[in-house]
Amino acid sequence: MNTSVCIIGAGASGIAVAKTLHQYGIAFDCFERGSGIGGNWRYNNDNGMSSAYRSLHINTNRIVMAYSDYPMPQSYPMFPHHSQIIRYFDSYVDHFGFRDTITFQTEVTDVRREDDGKSGQTYRVKTRAVNTGKTDERTYTHLIVANGHHWNPRLPDPPFPGQFAGETIHSHDYKEPEQIRGKRLLVVGMGNSAVDIACEAARQHAGSVTMSSRSGAYILPNWLMGMPFDSLASPLTAKLPMPLQRLLLKVSLRLAHGNQENYGVPRPNRPLLMEHPTISQDLLNMAGRGLIGFKPNIERFEGHDVVFTDGTRDSFDMIVYATGYKVTFPFFRDDFFNVEQTNDLQLYRRVVHPDFTGLYFVGLVQPLGAIMPLAEIQAVWLAKLIKDEVCLPNRVTMLQSIDAETAKVRRRYQQSARHTLQVDFHPYRQSIEREMRTMQARPQ
Ligand SMILES: Cc1cc2nc3c(=O)[nH]c(=O)nc-3n(C[C@H](O)[C@H](O)[C@H](O)COP(=O)(O)OP(=O)(O)OC[C@H]3O[C@@H](n4cnc5c(N)ncnc54)[C@H](O)[C@@H]3O)c2cc1C
Repeated sequence: MNTSVCIIGAGASGIAVAKTLHQYGIAFDCFERGSGIGGNWRYNNDNGMSSAYRSLHINTNRIVMAYSDYPMPQSYPMFPHHSQIIRYFDSYVDHFGFRDTITFQTEVTDVRREDDGKSGQTYRVKTRAVNTGKTDERTYTHLIVANGHHWNPRLPDPPFPGQFAGETIHSHDYKEPEQIRGKRLLVVGMGNSAVDIACEAARQHAGSVTMSSRSGAYILPNWLMGMPFDSLASPLTAKLPMPLQRLLLKVSLRLAHGNQENYGVPRPNRPLLMEHPTISQDLLNMAGRGLIGFKPNIERFEGHDVVFTDGTRDSFDMIVYATGYKVTFPFFRDDFFNVEQTNDLQLYRRVVHPDFTGLYFVGLVQPLGAIMPLAEIQAVWLAKLIKDEVCLPNRVTMLQSIDAETAKVRRRYQQSARHTLQVDFHPYRQSIEREMRTMQARPQ
């Protein structure tokens, strides 16, 4: 059977795949719903899916976030604005010359499995031109899904009891400070978006800013002694036993800002590295000035009042739910899978579906670090798999590996939808490199 490849999405992950396949001389179709590349990083993207807000800067530094063969310009600050990031992605596509391989304003609406019993499994992909509504169908042997996992808002489920009388939005719909200025604001969650929005509100002299969270978060700074904090993690430190890694991180945090509780920011009950940390240089400062208050989880709503689990209550005009995103594939029919409730898609090395031959996912990870270099190494692995330079283990081995990985993640993190995609940057990258070294295909 002739090989044919389809990529869904041309965000940071999709372009890493397109560039790699282009370099490997593998023909492919790449469908992108928006009129430009870059997905989440295109502010007000006409794909309607971007969660970027006007003031967004990356929180992983530009050196660790860049693709391996295309550094970000030296003239960029260490944590560039989204407008610089999208310029970087655009220049990456033009530098490697594969823009014409992407079909823009074309949404994949439906994917059907076809198996005629002879030639093996293929994927019938239906697309729709966003502007004209014109549809098309093609069949592919390989389907690479890179549709992103930060666009479909997750709200508390079940919802908190009672009715809140004020305004409610999800952080996905937060774009600019005008939306929150002057309001008594409650931000639910303590991840990166939650903290960014709370700090922005505090800077805008909102009526008041309060953060509510079930389990709190460890706050990591952007900088330590003039160095980007996230550059401290290295392949070497990642090899240390977990208690030693934890100790190193604890000492670094002591040096950076001491005990976060001294600023009024509650500390999680669980140890460091058993929660996805939140990166902010501003939160502790804002909290230390009393500009942001902290509450435990919400117990119920009573009009404009919110009653918290510690029995206290406060009045608010607006709630921003920064409660994360659902992993969603709207184009898959029901005979594939639906993991929206759990975010838990069981994949070999977070990429390969063990049951559907030729079905792959790129960028479906939540690293302690940046997604782009991981999408890039996943793309190289896929190119080698498609070219039969490397092979996969058998299904049983893949399932055993998936089970072991799932058990490891569950042991370390709370069993919640937030942590299912969690990977450690360096060990994960090394696992893909090892896979490519050890699973060389035998010459036919
Ligand atoms: C506020 C915020 C801040 C973040 N900050 C960082 C950071 O500092 N560092 C970091 O590494 N990560 C960060 N992330 C994570 C972010 O997801 C990644 O940076 C990056 O956007 C992932 O790229 P992606 O290509 O996987 O997904 P996306 O950027 O979401 O791109 C997916 C693409 O697929 C297209 N698409 C989707 N469905 C279809 C379809 N059916 N048909 C055709 N096209 C489709 C979309 O139009 C889009 O272009 C942040 C996320 C958020 C929300």
